[in-house]
Amino acid sequence: MDDNTFEKSRLTLLGLGAMGTAFARAWLAAGHSLTVWNRSPHRAEPLVAEGAKLAGTAAEAVAASDLVVVCLLDDASVGEALADADLTGKDLVNLTTGTPAEARARAEWAQARGARFLDGGIMAVPPMIGVPGSGGYVFYSGSRDLFDAHREALAVPAGTTYVGENPGFAALHDVALLSAMTGMFAGVSHAFALIRKENVAPKNLASLLVGWLTAMAPYAYGIADHLESGDYTRGVTSNLAMMVEGNSTLLRTAEEQGVSPELLTPFMALMERRLADGHGDEGTTGVIDLLTR
Ligand code: NDP
Repeated sequence: MDDNTFEKSRLTLLGLGAMGTAFARAWLAAGHSLTVWNRSPHRAEPLVAEGAKLAGTAAEAVAASDLVVVCLLDDASVGEALADADLTGKDLVNLTTGTPAEARARAEWAQARGARFLDGGIMAVPPMIGVPGSGGYVFYSGSRDLFDAHREALAVPAGTTYVGENPGFAALHDVALLSAMTGMFAGVSHAFALIRKENVAPKNLASLLVGWLTAMAPYAYGIADHLESGDYTRGVTSNLAMMVEGNSTLLRTAEEQGVSPELLTPFMALMERRLADGHGDEGTTGVIDLLTR
């Protein structure tokens, strides 16, 4: 279907914070008819100038369109904002960050009020929204029918990755990736701390870190293969016994450089426990077994 003949769908967006505003701009720029609502109405002014219609209440905004997208601070604010809205027959897409259990409960809550529900986990920051090729995308989970019906509109601000009917799966995937990122940031912080007092240019280290972390990232595929095969020794090139031995060099270097090892030691302690359990010929996959309660 070509852009000139395709009638752009009408939609409503609740929440005009940094992220909501970026989504709104992308839909307006693509020619969608957009109704917006925000608790503090002044934040809607620039968008109204760009063509958005401002609703006086959240309930009025919901009534204006079949597709209702919510991008608020947290799950509690979603419940609060939609308390008086009639959701009968609506397609509700919740882009508000929350936990998987919150998303599942919100799906039941929406369905009980007559709506189809799709949860979203945004893997982007506002400047990536509406920018083709920025790499930003949104995990979606919940009603497949809703996703298919509104796929084109949902794909305007960012890429779309549907991860299953279970409404908690978007949040689960979102948080899994953010958790991995947190570990990476911890490692990068420790690396910069090591060179902090030396004559090493941070930008040079940054470039080396990016190359090294990119080269090491496919390690995740090895872990996936271990978990799927049940054989944690398959394809291991650096085994746990060797890595634990190497950890002592990391810790002694931290000490020499006057750097606290506190970002490294929790992971190292788990590696040692797995080694003590007799798994020196594995990689680090067994640490996952120790973590899962
Ligand atoms: P902001 O803090 O910029 O905006 C928060 C929004 O929530 C505002 O519209 C605010 O209204 C509204 N709000 C807060 N509490 C309530 C309430 N009780 N009732 C009604 N409205 C309320 O956040 P962002 O726009 O950045 O984030 C929105 C969502 O997107 C969050 O869940 C966030 O985790 C997620 N996200 C954000 C990213 C980012 O980089 N910004 C990245 C990925 C996800 P008001 O203007 O009146 O205060």
